[in-house]
Amino acid sequence: MPPSSPSAAPQTSLDPADWSDLRAQGHRMLDDMFDYLSTLRDRPVWQPAPPAVRAGFSSPMPRQPTDLAVAHNRFMEEILPYAVGNAHPGFMGWVHGGGSAVGMLAETLAAGLNANLGGRNQIPIEVERQIARWMAELFGMPAGAGGLFVTGTSMANLIGVLVARTSALGRAVRQAGVAAQADRLVAYTSVCAHGCIAQAMDIAGLGIENLRKIPVDAQFRMDPVALQAAIDADRQAGLRPFLIAGTAGTVDVGAVDPLNTLADIAAREQLWFHVDGAFGALAMLAPGLAPLLQGIERADSVAFDFHKWGQVPYDAGFILVRDSAAQQAAFAASAAYLSRDDRGLAANSPWPCDLGPDLSRGFRALKTWFTLTVYGADHLGAVIAHTCTVAQGLAARVQAEPRLELLAPVALNIVCFRYRAEDAAAADRLNAAIVLELQESGLAAPSTTRIGGALAIRAAIVNHRSTHVDTDRLFDAVLAIGAQLTGQAPLKNEGDTATTDAGVAATTVPARAVTDLESQAVL
Ligand SMILES: *Cc1c(COP(=O)(O)O)cnc(C)c1O
Repeated sequence: MPPSSPSAAPQTSLDPADWSDLRAQGHRMLDDMFDYLSTLRDRPVWQPAPPAVRAGFSSPMPRQPTDLAVAHNRFMEEILPYAVGNAHPGFMGWVHGGGSAVGMLAETLAAGLNANLGGRNQIPIEVERQIARWMAELFGMPAGAGGLFVTGTSMANLIGVLVARTSALGRAVRQAGVAAQADRLVAYTSVCAHGCIAQAMDIAGLGIENLRKIPVDAQFRMDPVALQAAIDADRQAGLRPFLIAGTAGTVDVGAVDPLNTLADIAAREQLWFHVDGAFGALAMLAPGLAPLLQGIERADSVAFDFHKWGQVPYDAGFILVRDSAAQQAAFAASAAYLSRDDRGLAANSPWPCDLGPDLSRGFRALKTWFTLTVYGADHLGAVIAHTCTVAQGLAARVQAEPRLELLAPVALNIVCFRYRAEDAAAADRLNAAIVLELQESGLAAPSTTRIGGALAIRAAIVNHRSTHVDTDRLFDAVLAIGAQLTGQAPLKNEGDTATTDAGVAATTVPARAVTDLESQAVL
């Protein structure tokens, strides 16, 4: 049936006939999320979902409509309480960012606009390009640098490997494939590198076997002498070294490879120098930490996440490439339906789809732009520095406590420690059990890793909301649970020696540190 007036929506439109109910419901949904974010500390960090809740998500696809309020109610009762909990200040597992209310609002705006950032003549692309320029400046890269938002650093590292591959072999490799190459390409990273570097070699068709895992020093940094020896041996064997992937902030302990030395070797050997700075790269925002990353300005490409230390809501990974032309050479392709013009909607080339494998892409740049704009880069740097201070405070308490043992030096914001036990196997069992108990208690949520074979309780302080209150709670709970599991009586007054930012013993600590993004946003 034709519409009764030119402005009437078709019956099949998803827009409501009357917006007032939707508007009121939308405001309630937003309010619920503000309530959630402003009362995080009153909730468990994480809780396991009851089987009935889980079972509810195996019902068949609904054929009939459901009221939005009903769907929202289900979200509040059955989804929100059973998320991972990384917005909570007590969440310290893996390397998860906390997000922010401003990021949430920006994400809502982006969803409303529904911009597709694959290309075309639109200002949203200028927002993404502006962030690429800001990052190029932050990392000390020249004007020809460019970059692209991607899901996360796993994808950014893959793009880094692919750009390095095309740069080494020329564009022809895209046509012929690596199998047609006479030269076998070999890449180098440290034994502490994230698994996604090996995965990138796999996906790129280069083979995991052709990634050399170079040993590390006592601080878990790549050993440049061993790197040079491996390159020499591969050349001797007739292989073709093409890429060094350094890490700025290893996932296990937060170690930073000697980037300047790696850059020297890459320059001398004419290899692509990529840096996986998933969380660590944004330490450049903190003047006290930036010197640790010296040499990153010499990288050919840097992969990092705004959704970790940058506090931007998931997902917001980024690949920055020193020579944007090299990135285009690895991905740009022509297609009639994507032809460019110098006017109209098809202008504004090169497009983001020329820089990576995605064509349709969301507006990740907007939540990042809002986060940088509203809080300011300096404050985000202060947040990052504060997480390191909190980590150092926890490490100091661990070192002062005979029942605990620090398993790795704290370079940035990650503390790996364990509860001592009579032997290695008992310690592994005990600490694994402590972490499970902790997670299920809802008090704190660290994760585990292995350091030199030993199972470690790993606390990564990434969230802007986390303070000494949270690490003290973790510390006290580890001691209490450890004592319980080993049959020792828990000590009294465990929390009486809480430390402040200054590392001074105190009985009271502020509930929220000054670096908390929400409390600053209103200034
Ligand atoms: C988190 C992390 C990655 C993976 O990043 P995603 O955003 O999860 O894909 C890669 N490398 C390091 C060092 C990391 O910490």
